[in-house]
Formats: sequence, C-alpha cells, structure tokens
Amino acid sequence: MAKIGTDIDHAAALLREGKLVGIPTETVYGLAGNAFDERAIMKIFEVKRRPATVPLIAQTSSLGKAKGFVKQFSKEALLLAGKYWPGALTLVMEKSALIPDLMTSGGDTVGIRIPNHAMTLQLLSRLDFPLAVPSANIHGQKSPMTAEEVNEQIGDQIEYILDGGKCAVGFESTIVGFSNGLPVILRQGALSKENIESTINNTIN
Ligand code: AMP
Ligand code: MG
Repeated sequence: MAKIGTDIDHAAALLREGKLVGIPTETVYGLAGNAFDERAIMKIFEVKRRPATVPLIAQTSSLGKAKGFVKQFSKEALLLAGKYWPGALTLVMEKSALIPDLMTSGGDTVGIRIPNHAMTLQLLSRLDFPLAVPSANIHGQKSPMTAEEVNEQIGDQIEYILDGGKCAVGFESTIVGFSNGLPVILRQGALSKENIESTINNTIN
C-alpha cells in the first residue's frame, strides 16, 4: 500500500524522479505524473489500465504557465479561465510542442486545468513542469474522494498519496472545447452550462 501523508516536498521530489503520486483536488483525487515525461505518462496509463486512446488532462498553477502549453487562448477561453480558474473547469485547446503526443493520444488538443486546492496548488507551483492528472481510479471504476479510496484502488502501484482531505466538490470538472471559436461542452461536470453561457454572454450547444 502507498504511504498517505501531507509532505508536499516529498510529493514534489517523487514527481521530479518520474514517479507517480496520488494528489487531492477539489473535484476528485488524481493520479499525477510529470506531463513532460513520456515514461511517467505511460505509467499512468498502465496503473489506471486506461486505453491509450483516452487523453490525459494537464494541471498547472497559473494562467501564465498554461499559456505555454497551448498555441493560443481565444478571447472566450481567457474569459472562462479568468472567471473559473482555479476551479472545476478544464479547457481543451490546440496544444503547443511542449506537450508530448502521448498526453493527447496523438491528437492536436490538450485539456488544461488549474485545480482549486491549496495543497495541490502549492505542489504545482514548486514544479517546473505541468502534471498529467487523470482521476485516480482504475479505468471504469468510481473516482476516489479520499486518500484512503485512492489507496484501495491503486495503492499497491504507487509510493505516496498526498492527503488533502475529502474532495469539497466531489464531481469531475466540466470540460469545454472550442469549435470554430465557440465553446462546446465535451463533458458535463461540476460547473453548469448556464455558468459558462453567462460568462461568454452567449448560448452554447
Ligand atoms: P479523467 O482523466 O479521468 O479525469 O477524464 C478525463 C476526460 O477528459 C476523459 O474522458 C478524456 O476523454 C477527456 N479529455 C482529455 N483530454 C481531452 C482532449 N484533448 N479532448 C477531448 N477530451 C479530452
Ligand atoms: Mg476519470
């Protein structure tokens, strides 16, 4: 079983070594690895038993860093990020060359989010790379809401789980992509369609 603790420096050190760490977010617990490290990304797919065709979301701690991971933020993307980051919103945009193809299952777009969890924001701000962070469950099983639930599902395959308490939101992030510049909801989640529409002052499909 993995050790459960609150040592952010230890989690950061493991991630710098290319290892995976269970981390809290406000939505659900995540399984984190260095998003610039192809071996770490491959380990995430293995541990989760996730098909290679389902891309991973990248998490980072600031809009400035996020801008480096995509070609450009549209006006709508900036409005949404400005209003809901840190928060339960994942924005899918055209990726820059910094993001490995393995992260996106070969696609041109990457999902990015700044999570709203103090401990994980501290962790992210200490790292000079973004984290690949899918939910910390085995593919097809329930997303974990506590460090103990992460341990039950994947604790035999990782060393450490950062304990940030029970997830405050308890639902996945809402994923928003763009089609011809207009926002499209790719996954319903904690943030409602109405929240998104009122921010961009437009209705969406
Ligand atoms: P999870 O990794 O378990 O939090 O789930 C992430 C979800 O985001 C998966 O269903 C992915 O299919 C979806 N996703 C991640 N990246 C992208 C992307 N670039 N385009 C569309 N969907 C994505
Ligand atoms: Mg999931």
